[in-house]
Amino acid sequence: MRTRGQIESGSGQLRWVILLLSAAVILPTVCLLWFMGQAVQNVELAARQRLVVVYEEKLSGSAAGANESVGEQFASLDALVAGKGPAEVSGGLFRGGLNQVIVYDEAGERIYPQVSGDVNAPVEGSEEFAEGWRLEFEENEPGEALAFYGRKAQSADVLVRFVALIGKARCAARLGRRREAIDICREAALASEAGRCDAGVLMVIARARLLMFEWLAAEGGEGQAEVEERLRAGSKLVEIILNENEAGAVLPLDERVFLARRYVKSVGGGSDGEASAGIAENEQTLENLLDYGEVVLSVIERFPRAVALRDWPEEQFRQIQVGPERIRHGLRRELGGKTVLFLSGGDFDETLGDSYQRNFLKTGVRYRILDNLGRVVAGAEQARGRPFLKAPMGGNLTGWTAELYFEGADVFEKAAKRQIALYLWAGVLVMVLMLAAGGFATRAVGRQIRLNRLKNDFIATVSHELKTPLASMRVLVDTLLEGNYKDEQQAREYLELTARENERLSRLIDNFLTFSRMERNKQAFEIVRTGPGEIAEAAAEAVGTKFGNSKCELRVDIAEGLPEVGADRDAMVTVLVNLLDNACKYSYEDKRVELRVFVEGGSVCFSVRDNGIGMSQRAARKIFERFYQVDRSLSRRTEGCGLGLSIARFIVEAHKGSISVETAVGRGSTFTVRLPGAE
Ligand code: ADP
Repeated sequence: MRTRGQIESGSGQLRWVILLLSAAVILPTVCLLWFMGQAVQNVELAARQRLVVVYEEKLSGSAAGANESVGEQFASLDALVAGKGPAEVSGGLFRGGLNQVIVYDEAGERIYPQVSGDVNAPVEGSEEFAEGWRLEFEENEPGEALAFYGRKAQSADVLVRFVALIGKARCAARLGRRREAIDICREAALASEAGRCDAGVLMVIARARLLMFEWLAAEGGEGQAEVEERLRAGSKLVEIILNENEAGAVLPLDERVFLARRYVKSVGGGSDGEASAGIAENEQTLENLLDYGEVVLSVIERFPRAVALRDWPEEQFRQIQVGPERIRHGLRRELGGKTVLFLSGGDFDETLGDSYQRNFLKTGVRYRILDNLGRVVAGAEQARGRPFLKAPMGGNLTGWTAELYFEGADVFEKAAKRQIALYLWAGVLVMVLMLAAGGFATRAVGRQIRLNRLKNDFIATVSHELKTPLASMRVLVDTLLEGNYKDEQQAREYLELTARENERLSRLIDNFLTFSRMERNKQAFEIVRTGPGEIAEAAAEAVGTKFGNSKCELRVDIAEGLPEVGADRDAMVTVLVNLLDNACKYSYEDKRVELRVFVEGGSVCFSVRDNGIGMSQRAARKIFERFYQVDRSLSRRTEGCGLGLSIARFIVEAHKGSISVETAVGRGSTFTVRLPGAE
């Protein structure tokens, strides 16, 4: 007998098992994933550490390289400055092309480069020319001024003479006598003194030359032709701007810058044709001069004397704001009492970056060099993310830092992500495997639990089913023993009843045994080629007596020429007997059962049709389950324990066949067994 309590305790047990198994799967998996995460982090850290060591070395190598290339520039500087007099220093540095250097003497006064304030001042504004200046500019009398300058032009002093000539030419030009003005100018501009004079005179000659060029160029035609002719022959003016003369005189830096700018603008810029190549070359040199000249002049303005550099750490490059947009770097160097301010050139970034470039080329790493104020000087202007390594550059670049970035994403992060993904998939796989294993285990345990429950049910059912025929047999036998019968006829009836109960008991026990074997999967079938007709006839014969007693009409219809089937004959007979038995059991008074054997769709079909009580579709879906009975009341009319059909299905499926039912309540049922024909 089945009780609800038992069923519930079974599913409760299963719930616990599932819970425990889930915990057993999920907990270790979560732990495993956590450990993996930690492992990945450690791997990443270790890899980062290893790479950092490698890159640290490269970085310090590069910093040393940068310092070395910077240091190379000092060697010649030292030789030219230490222990030399001002003239020697200036001449040496100028000739050595060390343009971006400012040198202060022991007293802190600048000695190199010179600006116009340092040389013999041009005499235009001096007392000597005050009269001419007044006439020319204040009284606006160019004629009178011209006469004044003319007189002065007779002076024996070259400087006075040249200044006067320029004044005279200026006035002639203002009077509209351009040609005359050019000729006057020419006298000063082409003066042979240019090679031997001092810086002051050179300045005036240069200005005269510029003026002459400008007027000639403005004249066009012949004038322009002359300009080009002169340029082709090698511009004297450019030579004066760029070089020292035979006497070693050099134009002051601001004057050179001024002349260069004017020259490039008015003379160089206006030329074209064949003259261009030479001019272009000149222009390039002049552009360079403009470039560093402006920087140096601006720095001189900021540091007029060495005192201004007092706070600067020695031998270390510091940022100097030169213009609103222009930043250079300077290094203070003390050389035998003299102070030198060494300025970085426009190619400083290349000098610094060179060794980095070489070390980090194609490594997937980008470098960046930042000066003492954190401004990017060389390397990647825009760097993504944070640097993975930073190192001070030391030496002359103390206070500067070099940083390393990954090109694109962080390789550590990428590697770690790959690793994490790998671990994650592994974790997921493990989880799936464990869940599958857990699932199998749960199923196995569930099966075991169900089997236990089944056994309990089985014992209860068996006890009940066995008790009924035994009890009725006992009553009959007792009645006979006590002689409680009317006549021989009644005694015989009782005996027949006893025999029937006995037979029922045997069948019940047969079913139980079959079921028990089935449960243990020990049922072995002996499948041989058998004629389907034989099976049907044997089954009909087996139920013959019972059908006779129950007044049940059995019609057997076996088709002609049936193919043989592969079957265990006895087992198949059991199937049909069970079906026939049911057909008889579950029918009304007028029982008519039909057993047909025929071929359909390549299968051999055994069908058992009755005109009995039938059943609902819902019941029809369940009748093949073990112990299922439509009418479960203990007071039901018929015997049985709900095993017959499940045994039938088990046997049929073991034969690779199928069993089905067509039925409706009150309309009878047709059970059909299909077996594949033997090959
Ligand atoms: P039982 O021993 O109860 O007959 P079975 O497994 O043979 O067990 O049948 C299961 C149930 O299916 C029966 O209890 C009955 O309710 C229903 N059943 C089987 N055959 C028929 C049939 N021919 N007509 C109506 N009901 C049937």
